[in-house]
Amino acid sequence: MTTDADLKNATSDTAWQDDVRAGVRHVRDLALLPLSPAERAAAQEAAVRHKVRAPKTYLDLIDWNDPADPIRAQVIPSPDELVETEGELDDPIADHAFSPVPRLTHRHADRVLLFPTYQCAVYCRFCFRKESLTSIGRGYTREALEEAYAYIEAHTEIREVILTGGDPLSLPDKALAEIRARVEAIAHVRLLRIHTRVPVVLPSRITPGLVGALQGRLMVTIVTHFNHAREITPETEMGCRTLRQAGFVLLNQSVLLKGVNDTVEALEELCRELMYRLGVKPYYLHHGDLARGMAHRRTTIAQGQALAAALRARLSGICNPVYVLDLPEGGGKVPLGPCHVEAQDGDNWRIRGLDGGVRVYRDVVGE
Ligand SMILES: *Cc1c(COP(=O)(O)O)cnc(C)c1O
Ligand code: SF4
Repeated sequence: MTTDADLKNATSDTAWQDDVRAGVRHVRDLALLPLSPAERAAAQEAAVRHKVRAPKTYLDLIDWNDPADPIRAQVIPSPDELVETEGELDDPIADHAFSPVPRLTHRHADRVLLFPTYQCAVYCRFCFRKESLTSIGRGYTREALEEAYAYIEAHTEIREVILTGGDPLSLPDKALAEIRARVEAIAHVRLLRIHTRVPVVLPSRITPGLVGALQGRLMVTIVTHFNHAREITPETEMGCRTLRQAGFVLLNQSVLLKGVNDTVEALEELCRELMYRLGVKPYYLHHGDLARGMAHRRTTIAQGQALAAALRARLSGICNPVYVLDLPEGGGKVPLGPCHVEAQDGDNWRIRGLDGGVRVYRDVVGE
C-alpha cells in the first residue's frame, strides 16, 4: 500500500538512499529475501557470474508465491545463468570494437555512447553489457571521461551524446551536473540522451536535484527501460511526471524476454500503460541479444516477429515500439518487424494490409 505520506517522502532528496540500503546490495543480502534454502543456494551460486543488486521498492513488487514472477525473473539470479550456449558472446553488440577511446563507443556518425559509470542501481540478469560491468566495473571520475570529451570535441559530426553504462542516473547530482555542463559546452552537440533503469527500479531517485542537474542548453531525452506493466506503479508514475514536467522527452526500450513479457497480452498492456499512464513513448522492443547464460530468456526471431505483427495490428502508432535486433559485429539495430511488401512488378507493388488482405499500390510520380 502506498499512502500520500509515502509519496511525499519519496520526493525528498535522500529517500532513495534508504531504498537502496534496504534492498539487496551484495550476494549475502539474498538471505534477506523469502527464498527457500535451496532457492537461495542456487541464487548465490548463479550470482558469481553477474553482480546482484536491487532496491527495496523494486523487490517489493515481487510476488514470492509465484516462482515465474516477471519482476523476480529480472533480478534474482537463476542457475540457468550458469548454462553457456554455443554462439553466445561476451560483447554481443561490439561496444569494444567501436571504442576509439575509453568510455566511448562511436558506431553511427552523428551519435556516441558515453559510459560515465559501469555501475547500476539494479543488476538485470539479462544485461547485454554484463561482461563490461564485471571486467571494467569502474565508477565515475571526471578524469576518466577527459579523453572521451576531447574525442567528441574533435568530431563535429556528433550531434547526440548518449549517456549509458552502467546506469548514468545512479550517479550523484553533482556528477550529473558536471557531465551535462561538459557536454553542453561542446557547441556541435544538440541533444543529451540518457539510457536508464532508475525511473523503473528506483523512482525515488528522481528528485528536484536530479532534474536541476540535467537542465541546461541541450534537449534532453530520457530512455527508460520498463519490461512489464507490473513495473508501472504510483511511484514510477510520479517519477515520470516529474521528468516530463521538467521538459524532458521520455521514451522506453524493452527487451523481449521469455517468461517475462513474451505474450501479446503482456506487451500490449506494457505499451499502453507506458504511453497512456506514464506519457512514455514505446521506442524499441529489442530482440534478446547473445549475452552469455541467457538462452533460457531468449525467444526465436520468428516468435518475436509474430508478436510484433500482433502489436502492429492492435496498438495505435504512438503505443507501438519498433522490434529491432542489435546485430553482432556492430551491424547496428535493424528492424525485424513483419515486411508487408509481397511482390513488386515494375511500378506495381503488392502490399499486405493490416487486415491480411493484399492490395496493389502503383507508383505514380512526375517526370
Ligand atoms: C543503440 C545505439 C545507439 C543509439 O541508436 P538509436 O537507434 O539512435 O537509438 C547509438 N550508438 C550505439 C553504438 C548503439 O548501440
Ligand atoms: S541497468 Fe542496464 S546496464 Fe545495468 S544491469 Fe540493467 S540492463 Fe545492464
